[in-house]
Amino acid sequence: MKRAIISDIHSNLEALEAVLEDIHQQGISEVYCLGDIVGYGPNPRECLDKVMELDVCILGNHDEAVLFDPLGFNLVARRAILWTRDQLKGHRGESAAARRRRDFLGELPRIRTEGDFMFVHGSPRDPTNEYVFEDDVYNRRKMEALFDRIERYCFQGHTHIPGVFTHREFFSPEECNFQYRLSDEKVMINVGSVGQPRDCDPRACYVVVIDDQVTFRRVEYDIDTTVKKIYAIEDLENSLGDRLRDGR
Ligand code: ZN
Repeated sequence: MKRAIISDIHSNLEALEAVLEDIHQQGISEVYCLGDIVGYGPNPRECLDKVMELDVCILGNHDEAVLFDPLGFNLVARRAILWTRDQLKGHRGESAAARRRRDFLGELPRIRTEGDFMFVHGSPRDPTNEYVFEDDVYNRRKMEALFDRIERYCFQGHTHIPGVFTHREFFSPEECNFQYRLSDEKVMINVGSVGQPRDCDPRACYVVVIDDQVTFRRVEYDIDTTVKKIYAIEDLENSLGDRLRDGR
């Protein structure tokens, strides 16, 4: 197996292009995406067109909110969702490209399983919406409930914070030297975020899986360009640009 797993692109085209180039340079052709293609950022159409070319994509909560109602979002996120929805409609009625993108979003699965492997956006229990944070390792009941639903390995995104969860512990990429070897132990692996990292490292994040070896990758991209685009769009709050520089 030789596969890249990306997540939480959030309409950040510069970050997505940099990551796809990094994947290409390693000779990897199989790419899975764990959702949140859109929301927050300035290039929803362009990002969707690129993700539509990938091998597998899972539905994220922002992708879902574009299709339905943005429930449970804060004002900044909600405004970005409504703006994104407009962008996907196209300006003069529904074009063929616009229809293709919306059909693609509408058909995304919430969960995918392949033998020992499971792929979700949020968690094994609530694949689209539930967050699994570092502190949850102290919540024995929650961890048991999540791990009960996993055959062996679950790959997820949603929190924008990469790392490896065992039943009792969380390891950041730094703590495991950016490498994790899959064994008999059940694990949930958060692949981090391409387009809006929140672990104080502004570089785009994703993972590569080669056989049993999982590697966390960080990729620099042209943050200034993305931030300028966000500043220029009224419905996208400037804070959505500022946070990209800080990786938070
Ligand atoms: Zn997200």
